[in-house]
Amino acid sequence: MRHNVRIPEVTPKFIFIVGGVMSSVGKGVSTASIGRLLQSRGFKVTIIKADPYLNIDAGTMNPVEHGEVFVTMDGDETDQDIGNYERFLNQNIYSVNYMTLGRVFKKVLDKERKLEYGGKCVEFFYHTPLEIINLIKKAQKENNAEITLIEVGGTIGEYQNILFLEAGRMMRLKNPDNVLFIMVSYLPIPSTVGEMKTKPTQNAVRLLNSSGIQPDIILGRSEKPLDRKRKEKIALMCNMHEEDIISAPDCSNIYEVPFNFKKEKLDIKILTKLNLKPRKVNMKDWRKWLDKVKRIKKSVKIGIAGKYFTTGKFILADSYISVIEALKFSAWHLNRKLDLVWLDVEEYEKNPKSLKELFDFDGIVVPGGFGKRGVEGKIKVAQFCRENNIPYFGLCLGMQIMAIEFARNVLKLKNAHSEEFNTKTKYPIIHIIPAQKEKLKQKDYGGSMRLGGYKCLLDKNSISYRAYLSTKWIKPHNPVIVERHRHRYEFNNKYRSIFEEKGAHIAGVNTDQDLVEIIEIKNHSFMVGCQFHPEFQARPLNPHPLFTEFIKIAIKQS
Ligand code: GLN
Repeated sequence: MRHNVRIPEVTPKFIFIVGGVMSSVGKGVSTASIGRLLQSRGFKVTIIKADPYLNIDAGTMNPVEHGEVFVTMDGDETDQDIGNYERFLNQNIYSVNYMTLGRVFKKVLDKERKLEYGGKCVEFFYHTPLEIINLIKKAQKENNAEITLIEVGGTIGEYQNILFLEAGRMMRLKNPDNVLFIMVSYLPIPSTVGEMKTKPTQNAVRLLNSSGIQPDIILGRSEKPLDRKRKEKIALMCNMHEEDIISAPDCSNIYEVPFNFKKEKLDIKILTKLNLKPRKVNMKDWRKWLDKVKRIKKSVKIGIAGKYFTTGKFILADSYISVIEALKFSAWHLNRKLDLVWLDVEEYEKNPKSLKELFDFDGIVVPGGFGKRGVEGKIKVAQFCRENNIPYFGLCLGMQIMAIEFARNVLKLKNAHSEEFNTKTKYPIIHIIPAQKEKLKQKDYGGSMRLGGYKCLLDKNSISYRAYLSTKWIKPHNPVIVERHRHRYEFNNKYRSIFEEKGAHIAGVNTDQDLVEIIEIKNHSFMVGCQFHPEFQARPLNPHPLFTEFIKIAIKQS
């Protein structure tokens, strides 16, 4: 699926995007938006994420700590920002575009063991940045990109991302005309003062200067737009031109950000600095779509029965970001705003009566997850939805939950379970296949699940088939989809026939490995579970068929 190799028309250009002052101010969205803006000018753009932690990938981190693990089509477990890049650029991003410091170190150390440094002393501050540069160039080549954006994770001033900055500095030194630095910085407006403060940004620029880097452009992130005075001050104190200080205020819909940047002529400024001639801009579809979204009045109310959203007393929706975006795209497509509510599944375990509140919802999503906490509550949610004809959409673990509930309450298989939660269950509806068992025995936990794109053959007599067909994701003569996976456990084929006999339908199967991929409950408005994660393929102008079908039925039922 990679693009054919073609010599780029322009010398490859590189833009490093770094964060100043603090994290979580929208560096990922800003990067994706710059990418989208340059892409709409007809340039071939790609985006790399360079994360400063030592994990080889994001797969071993708790989502509450790190946010969603975004899975690429070629099976890498990456940072959620890669999801933003895919959604904004409307293109798949592959493993080659993701690096962690751990991954870089591993490469360096492996090379050293293979004598690839030819007897030299291998140095932290020289060989590591060189390896980072190799990886950046490799991604640029594989993507045939004219412009490559590199988002450096973390904030200026942290020791951990200094090697990425050093790589950028070296690249700029060798190629001053082809490498740019953009700093996304935060400007607080303390409520006691009421005035926007520029000092933290000035300090962040000084810190960046101490790495030998002068930013070319600053994106000033704040609650409100930057006024002339702030721009002048930052420019003067940071040794920059006023027109290179860009106002990037909060906006209610992140998909508006490319247009906000365009208003500030950010695309022209970047292209001029890179000696590129601006090409004709084309963002009509995107604008039309956003204008339509703005006009939507009615909403659809969806509950998410997950568990990775509390951090202390705060709600952190980041763990489910792709699910939320997928729901939004489908709701918007059907002229509805998304009214999303986080359901406390552990409360349903303690107090099953509170399940009644599910009647207030148009549909329920049970997303992916790991570990036992909250599982019994989710099973109760599935039972309630099945018995009361409430639309239910199960994603990965959500499908497994749906199968366990069906086995327990329809097939009367007492205490049926997944081997993930009860290794000794008499009825292992969801089980571990031998290859995976061996991996666990060897403590081979990293990057070892069923990961990335796998084919699934759809049964023509199913809701899923109709959904994919009506959105033209498949053709009748070839009802095969490719969807992304991230799980260790599978539906146990031993129970397939009894499921089919008693009212469940196996709607999709991976025929290469004979694995169940989609289960649907018959005689229900919409009770569909898929073993894969459809959310990773939902795009703004191309919402995912299963999400759209789910929302369609939810609206109809409400
Ligand atoms: N924990 C389950 C498994 O490993 C489901 C994983 C998921 O929902 N991504 O199979």
